Amino acid sequence: MSVLIVGSTALDSIKTPKAENPRLLGGSASHAAVAASFFAPVKLVGVVGEDFPQRYVQLYKRHKVDLEGLQVAAGKTFHWSGEYEVNMNSRRTLATELGVFETFTPKLPVSYQASPFVLLANIAPSLQSHVLKQMRRPEFVVADTMDLWLNIALPDLLQLLKSVDGFVLNDSEARQLTKEDNLISALKKIHKLGPKYVIIKKGEHGAILSSRDTGLFISPAYPLARVVDPTGAGDSFVGGMMGYLSTAKGPIETNLRRAMIYGSVVASFCCEGFGLTFTTRITRRAIDARFKELARLTRF
Ligand code: AMP
Repeated sequence: MSVLIVGSTALDSIKTPKAENPRLLGGSASHAAVAASFFAPVKLVGVVGEDFPQRYVQLYKRHKVDLEGLQVAAGKTFHWSGEYEVNMNSRRTLATELGVFETFTPKLPVSYQASPFVLLANIAPSLQSHVLKQMRRPEFVVADTMDLWLNIALPDLLQLLKSVDGFVLNDSEARQLTKEDNLISALKKIHKLGPKYVIIKKGEHGAILSSRDTGLFISPAYPLARVVDPTGAGDSFVGGMMGYLSTAKGPIETNLRRAMIYGSVVASFCCEGFGLTFTTRITRRAIDARFKELARLTRF
């Protein structure tokens, strides 16, 4: 089974207290696609400009990402830059240059339309909906988002939530969306907006899943002694999770917990290098080893 992933395909310039790296391959869809590729074939939907380096196209190809849905448009690739504070938990966006994303209308190739697993990675919710409308009855659809869309496109996001199975957001976004300080109360409110499964990401503290049928599950984050760059960790988490889910046998309800642990593992690798540099060097064997370690660390 393959995973269809739509989201941003970007060039990221990232500054941490220790180093600065310009124009790395980034974007929610890039991180999610590479993460998912360790488990399943990926079909990518996105747009890049004429300045998009060939070496990044080659990187997608090395991960066997299907690029039929990646448009190359006249203009500049979406460029995002951000700066981390000393503790690496708070980040400041320095610039967002939309470039070719400003006029992007995703058009799904016919070969993509029957994909059973769909990840609507972070991008404007109207574009996420536009992709979903072109799909033929997907089995499982998950959407991710960011605070920007809560601020400038809330009606679009609320509309989207009525037609997804799962929704992933971080703790501050959950609080902002529901005006609830308590995350357990926030989860209940988010279910009422549509999704059967809601996952709240809490960075280095892991993630909480709430299923309408089976209740809560707490997923740990892998304990890292050194974080180099957490950009894309959330996208790697959800990409790894969807990649694993698409290949696991049995009901989604049963597989989702394991899938979250796999997501946490891929996210931890992502944090160990700038952009995608570390994630692209790992293997499925390394993922499985860390999965076992995380399982051992949380057994009691
Ligand atoms: P994360 O660290 O999981 O929040 O994701 C960071 C990624 O989000 C970076 O690779 C950025 O290119 C991407 N990103 C930043 N701002 C936006 C935006 N407005 N829309 C879509 N993707 C974005």
